[in-house]
Amino acid sequence: MDLITLPTNPIAVSSFSADGWGPSAAESHALFSPYTNTQFGSVCYTEDREVQTIVAKAHEAWPAWRATPIKERSALLSAFRGQLLSNQEDLSNLIAMESGKTKAEALAGLLKGIEVIDFALSLQNVSRDNRLQVSRGVWCMSEQEPLGVVAGITPFNFPAMVPLWLFPIAITLGNCFILKPSEKVPATSTRMAALMDAVGFPRGVFSVVHGDKRCVEALIDNPTVKAVGFVGSSLVAESVYKRATLGGKRALCLGGAKNQLIVAPDADPEITLRGILDSFTGCAGQRCMAGSVAILIDSASRFIDPLCELAAQRIPGPQLGAIIDAAARARLGAALDKAVEQGARLLLDGRLAKPPAGYERGNWLGPSILDNATPTMECATKELFGPILTILRVKTLSEALELERNNPYGNATAIFTASASIAQQVATSATAGMIGVNIGVPVPREPFSFGGTKGSRFGHGDITGYGAVEFWTTTKKVTTKWQNQSDQNWMS
Ligand code: NAD
Repeated sequence: MDLITLPTNPIAVSSFSADGWGPSAAESHALFSPYTNTQFGSVCYTEDREVQTIVAKAHEAWPAWRATPIKERSALLSAFRGQLLSNQEDLSNLIAMESGKTKAEALAGLLKGIEVIDFALSLQNVSRDNRLQVSRGVWCMSEQEPLGVVAGITPFNFPAMVPLWLFPIAITLGNCFILKPSEKVPATSTRMAALMDAVGFPRGVFSVVHGDKRCVEALIDNPTVKAVGFVGSSLVAESVYKRATLGGKRALCLGGAKNQLIVAPDADPEITLRGILDSFTGCAGQRCMAGSVAILIDSASRFIDPLCELAAQRIPGPQLGAIIDAAARARLGAALDKAVEQGARLLLDGRLAKPPAGYERGNWLGPSILDNATPTMECATKELFGPILTILRVKTLSEALELERNNPYGNATAIFTASASIAQQVATSATAGMIGVNIGVPVPREPFSFGGTKGSRFGHGDITGYGAVEFWTTTKKVTTKWQNQSDQNWMS
């Protein structure tokens, strides 16, 4: 069975900007599909000099874009939305091929990204500007103004969705946007740039640059770039946050996670087993909302055997995507060995799962479950980013909540229970930014915004929803008087 379709001709990925497609003579890097480890194309890294030119051209494009009424900006975004939908089959294949997701997961991520476009489109119908007579004959008005040229830096695990968290809202609000996607999955962003160009976005409104740390630094050090939205691992998120804010920029940098799924003894077996399994194996565990630690309270440990049975049936390939590259796959294998060395019991070893026929050279790992872990072991504390679940057993809800409080990350926490009172207690006490009740991947749907706490976020606010409106704009206040008033006061 064909899980993905590899391109017949190699894909050549280059930058896109006001000057069109970038030079292909620059430093070129091979691109490999996680499904096969065969090369399907190459990406040209954008040179520092070229990054500076692209930022300057975006800045030149900004006055006209800023002056374009929001309804016209939204009409272009709506046409782009239409292109994403009519190319969804192709795009899902591209996303799956370059990131290792299953095609179903790739499509789900694309559709979730389109929900953010829907939110951005709704902004044209909501006036957030206020006008009030603050004194006799004196009117105050506030306006949300775009910042100018802004940038987004994104990770490999959602080639369409995470970029779509960032640029549709920013450009709808009148900014010009420069995206630096992960160098591991640059093709989807480049394809989206082509679709935006095709629907008539003025050149310079949306640009894409490629590369690694060096390209990121060239972008965030450029004084014309006013704000940086970043999504990736916590170490990098923190360093990008510090560098950008030191340079006087606005920054919101989302990092990694180690999400905990708490299971109360009264939890519904079907909802719980399905919820935990989907949470730790979905996207092959390579998502910042994956539940990677199950905290089982008292007799909830009865769920362990059926969970292992169900997980063993999840087949790499059609049901479980591939790991991004061979190095990450090797790292996950070593993490399982280390957990066992430290005293955990490997109940299910995903290394023994059979790779899908025809894709034997891909980076596969089946669901893996570790029991007998302690809260300080690496498998319980470190983000592994693969389909690995670590089980911690506790006696009481208070112990579970203490583990939650001590989690250095703060993306998601879920509680599985039949009791509204336990659910309420967890929702109130938990320190993560996104809480699930009987939901293992509690991603808020728009307009509820996405964002974690603690080591999962550097900066203030959320990356989507109204938080993003605040992030990509500044509020200007205008105070006006046209006529002299006889009874003047201090403001008149
Ligand atoms: P990563 O941090 O390695 O890379 C993210 C981006 O940063 C890429 O564009 C990369 O080129 C760039 N980068 C890498 N090293 C850099 C450096 N030293 N300086 C400047 N830029 C650098 O992350 P990844 O491996 O691509 O993605 C997986 C990580 O992203 C996981 O930790 C996951 O939890 C996290 N993630 C978080 C969220 C969230 O919303 N919190 C969403 C998706 C992914």
